[in-house]
Amino acid sequence: ELVNINGLVNYILDRFDMMLKKDKIDTRDIKTKNYTIKRDFTKRDLWVELDTDKFIQVVDNIMNNAIKYSPDGGVITCRLLETHNNVILSISDQGLGIPKKDLGHVFDRFFRVDKARSRAQGGTGLGLAISKEVIELHHGRIWVDSVEGKGSTFYISLPYEEYSEEDLWDEN
Ligand code: ATP
Ligand code: MG
Repeated sequence: ELVNINGLVNYILDRFDMMLKKDKIDTRDIKTKNYTIKRDFTKRDLWVELDTDKFIQVVDNIMNNAIKYSPDGGVITCRLLETHNNVILSISDQGLGIPKKDLGHVFDRFFRVDKARSRAQGGTGLGLAISKEVIELHHGRIWVDSVEGKGSTFYISLPYEEYSEEDLWDEN
């Protein structure tokens, strides 16, 4: 379906903001991470042909990773920008980062940077492999840029449709 990606990403991030407030009620839970989500979105509404549920799964995984592999209190910056015919979503964290030698492998099935540490965090190492599959099915690209000890940025680029909200109304 043709989806307003600005609205959809806002909706996904709102859920992460809500999780934060709810979890903070129980301050004894040491697994509760504090984080701040910053949003920097293009003003123009962009329409992308998406399988909404699958796209939510992709962004959920990248957000969960950003939280899971960051110390408490990190800032996660989400940007939505447009190039000539693509929309780019970037999600940056201030976490552990990924060693240079592993950057080419994080989208492989079952790959995890530090086996022992990652096992303690839970998960299967499938999240990014599935994300890559989903984004490529949408004719998009997904990649990562990271500095060990400083943080990581995951990028998703998708082709957008040149439809305005007005065009959609005219169709009906
Ligand atoms: P799953 O998503 O299946 O629950 P997972 O999070 O370990 O498990 P992926 O999401 O595929 O698996 O990520 C693969 C590996 O890449 C992770 O185990 C981690 O080592 C590394 N990684 C992913 N995102 C980040 C990040 N934001 N910062 C640091 N390392 C990351
Ligand atoms: Mg994951």
